[in-house]
Amino acid sequence: MADLDTEQRGITQTMAARLWNSRWLLAAGVVAVVAVYALAGISAYIVLAALLLLLAAAILPAAGARQSTGSGAAIEATGLQRLSGEYLAAAVADPLIIFDRAATIVHANAAAFAAFGGIAPGMSLSLKFRAPEMQALLDGVLSGDVASDVVDYMEKLPVERAYRVSVSSVGHATDLYVLVFKDQSETRRIDRMRADFIANASHELRTPLASIAGFIETLRGPARNDAAARDQFLQIMQSQTGRMARLIDDLLSLSRLEMKPYLKPGTEVDLRQTVDSVIDSLGPLASENAVAIERRYADGPLHVPGDRDELFQVFENLLENACKYGQSGGRVVVSIAHSDAGPEPGIDVTIRDFGPGIPEEHIPRITERFYRVDVETSRTQKGTGLGLSIVKHILTRHNARLSIKSEVGNGAAFSVHLPAH
Ligand code: ADP
Repeated sequence: MADLDTEQRGITQTMAARLWNSRWLLAAGVVAVVAVYALAGISAYIVLAALLLLLAAAILPAAGARQSTGSGAAIEATGLQRLSGEYLAAAVADPLIIFDRAATIVHANAAAFAAFGGIAPGMSLSLKFRAPEMQALLDGVLSGDVASDVVDYMEKLPVERAYRVSVSSVGHATDLYVLVFKDQSETRRIDRMRADFIANASHELRTPLASIAGFIETLRGPARNDAAARDQFLQIMQSQTGRMARLIDDLLSLSRLEMKPYLKPGTEVDLRQTVDSVIDSLGPLASENAVAIERRYADGPLHVPGDRDELFQVFENLLENACKYGQSGGRVVVSIAHSDAGPEPGIDVTIRDFGPGIPEEHIPRITERFYRVDVETSRTQKGTGLGLSIVKHILTRHNARLSIKSEVGNGAAFSVHLPAH
C-alpha cells in the first residue's frame, strides 16, 4: 500500500516536472494555435483537440512506472551532486580529515581544527599524527591492502583524549581518503568509574566476609568448647553481617536512584513534617550519643515540590552523620528557612553540628562514593561511605544544591537548598 502511494507520488512528481520542463513548448503551442484560430476562424473544437494533443505529448513518456523511478533517481542524483565534500564534512560533528594518496591533508572540518589545532591543507598527516597505530592505519589504507580500518588513538595534548579513528577510501579511484575521529573519552571515564566502584564495593564486602569466615574457623577449631569466646565471636559476626547488610542497602538505594531517570512531577513535600519525622526516627541514636537536637523552623507553610521518601533519606543521612561525627559537640541544630539567595528562591534546610568539623581539603570530595575523611571512624560509626553520594544523587534529581561549611574544631553545617518551584 505504502509502495503504491510512493509510486503514485513519484509519477505525479515526474509529470509535474515534465510539464514544467516543457512549459515553453506548451506556451509556444498555445500561442500558435490561438493565432491560427484567430487568423483562420477555425472551430473551437479543433482548437481544444489541438491543446489536448499538446498536453498528452508532454505527459505521455512518463506513463511507465519503471521510467518514473528512473527519473526520481535522476532528480536525487542531481541533489547529491550539488552537495560538495566540504559541506558534507562541515555537517559531521566529529573531527574529519580528507587526505590524498601522499597522506597530505586536502580538507579538515571545523571539529578537526578545534580538536587538533595546527593542521592545515597541504600538511603531511604522518607528521601530525606520529603515533605508530596511526601510521599503521594510514599505511594499510594507502597501500590498498584494506579499504577501511579502525584503531584506538590517544591524543595527549592539549588535553588527554581517547579517540576511535576510522579510515576509508572515498568512492572509486578518487585517490582520496577520509579519517573520522570518534571521541571515546567520556565512555572511558564512565567505564573507569564503574570498574573503581565495583572494586571498592567488593573490597567493602570482602572485609566483613573475611572476618566472619575467620571466626567460623576459630569456632569450629580452637574455640569449639569455649562458651565465653563463642558468645563474643557470634556477637562480632552479627555486627559484621549488619555492616554487609547496610552496604547492600546503600548499593541498592544508589542503583534504584540511577534507574529512576527523573522525578515524578506534581508532588509537594511538607518539609516541617518530613524533618520532624526524621528527628523522631533518629531519637534513639541521638540519645545514645548524648546529642540534643534543636529545631529552628520558619513560620508558615514550608512546602517544596519533590519526593517525600527521597527527601526523608537526605535529611536522615545528614542528621545521622551530625549525630555520629559531631557527637563531641553535644548538640545539633536543624533549621528550615526561606531563602532568596542564589538563582532560584526556595527553602534551605540546614543541619549544623559542633563536633570536630571537616578539614577544608576533604570538602570537595566528601560526596564521592566511598570517600571518607577517616576510614576507621566511619567504620566504628557503622558508615558505608555511600551516605553523602546518595544525598547528592537525590538532590540533583530535585534540582537542589548541597553546600558544606566547616571550620576545623568548630563543627560542620550541611545546607540543602530546595527550589520552591
Ligand atoms: P559514611 O557512611 O562513612 O558516614 P558519608 O558519605 O555519609 O559516609 O560521609 C562521608 C564522610 O564524610 C564520613 O566518613 C565522614 O568522614 C565525613 N563526614 C560526614 N558528615 C560529617 C560531619 N557532620 N562531621 C564530620 N565529618 C563528617
